[in-house]
Amino acid sequence: MTKSYVIKPELGKEYPVISHGKGIYLYDKEGNRYIDGSSGAVTASIGHGVEEVAEAMYAQAKEVSFVYRSHFSSDAVEKLATKLAEWAPGSLNWTFFVSSGSEATETAQKIAIQYWQEKGRPTKNRIISRWMSYHGITMGALSMSGHVLRRKRFTPLLADYPAITGPYPYRKPEDMSLESYALACANELETAILRVGPEQVAAFIAEPVIGASGGAVVPPDGYFQRIREICDKYEVLFIADEVMTGVGRTGKAFGVNHWGVVPDLMTLGKGMSAGYTPMAATIVSDEIIETITKGSGSIMAGHTYSANPQSAAVSLAVLDYVEKHQLVEKAAEQGAYLLARLKELADELPLIGDARGLGMLCALEFVKNKQTKEPFALSQGVGGKVIQKAFEKGLLIYPAMGGIEGVAGDAVIISPPLTITTEQIDELIALLKEAVIAVQQELQDKALI
Ligand code: PMP
Repeated sequence: MTKSYVIKPELGKEYPVISHGKGIYLYDKEGNRYIDGSSGAVTASIGHGVEEVAEAMYAQAKEVSFVYRSHFSSDAVEKLATKLAEWAPGSLNWTFFVSSGSEATETAQKIAIQYWQEKGRPTKNRIISRWMSYHGITMGALSMSGHVLRRKRFTPLLADYPAITGPYPYRKPEDMSLESYALACANELETAILRVGPEQVAAFIAEPVIGASGGAVVPPDGYFQRIREICDKYEVLFIADEVMTGVGRTGKAFGVNHWGVVPDLMTLGKGMSAGYTPMAATIVSDEIIETITKGSGSIMAGHTYSANPQSAAVSLAVLDYVEKHQLVEKAAEQGAYLLARLKELADELPLIGDARGLGMLCALEFVKNKQTKEPFALSQGVGGKVIQKAFEKGLLIYPAMGGIEGVAGDAVIISPPLTITTEQIDELIALLKEAVIAVQQELQDKALI
């Protein structure tokens, strides 16, 4: 192999080179086939190699790929923003286009802070988030993220925002009902707001279903309804980070729709363009846009590639595809089947403490002791071992390790394209089972479980 100068996640490691993809499968140049059991990073939600998207991409490229948003709009972005306004709940009608989930959450943070400035309340400039959370890798987004592993090296440089613990039903106190647990977790937000002072708090940000830092952690019913009440009571904006959960992934158009809650700002990424081009968005309410329009008249954010027609045309084709093939409904149906199959694995295999998820966003959490739910030390990298074993068997799954020693265990996310069939889910489960059994055996042989 010729020397590679690409900076890869693990320096010095060789990665297979991919040649093409079709549907849920990816093929490398050696001829190996992989089931994309996690849609990459929960991204390729309509599967690989979709002709319609390639055609839309080419058609737009022939006309014009790039215009700068300070100069022009384009049909593609106008149409996409209109479609998103139709998809999004409540008065979330305005879209600020960006190119990654991190840019989307940073932009949401900035718009929230600017909103309060325009209202003449500039001290409302802090964001409350949750310890089990991931909102992106750039400094502003990382400041709002609880993902300890990703924060560690940069902690002194991050904004010192307060954080609360989010609900984690698998590890809730045993003597507490789910209803009271949901309320107790949500009420932590009220305590945090009062501690900091409502006049200092601009917004609260949360993922409807926790992704990379916990692994498809679904909140109990009532949690987000109570969060919305608290935000309203103290005039705190609610930002729903739907970068992972948006555009049908959880079996509804957006994660918050499961609880009928309407945020003030919502971020999208990943499934919005399903990996065909970088594309992400911050969707904003009428009230916020009207306030800023009457005030300074301009949002202080934006990137060179914001609102480029090329990515907008691709995203539009992806959303059309999702609608045409009813993939939101499919995610709900097939996701229920996937979760049922994962729960069977959890019943069978001692290494799996919990199988959970919503729609096509599912996870397995590995534990040292199923009865006590004792997690593995993160240094043992059990989730990583399962991912590696699955990879060797031709199955891709995604890590969800928040890095909170003793609190959040090792989990892996299983989130295939929303197009996956029942037979393909069976195929995925068979490989996953083999991978978990292999790691379980290895740990038993070393007397680690
Ligand atoms: N928010 C959430 C909920 C995410 O899952 C991610 C990515 N895992 C991000 C933000 C950051 O997105 P990106 O990697 O595209 O910057």
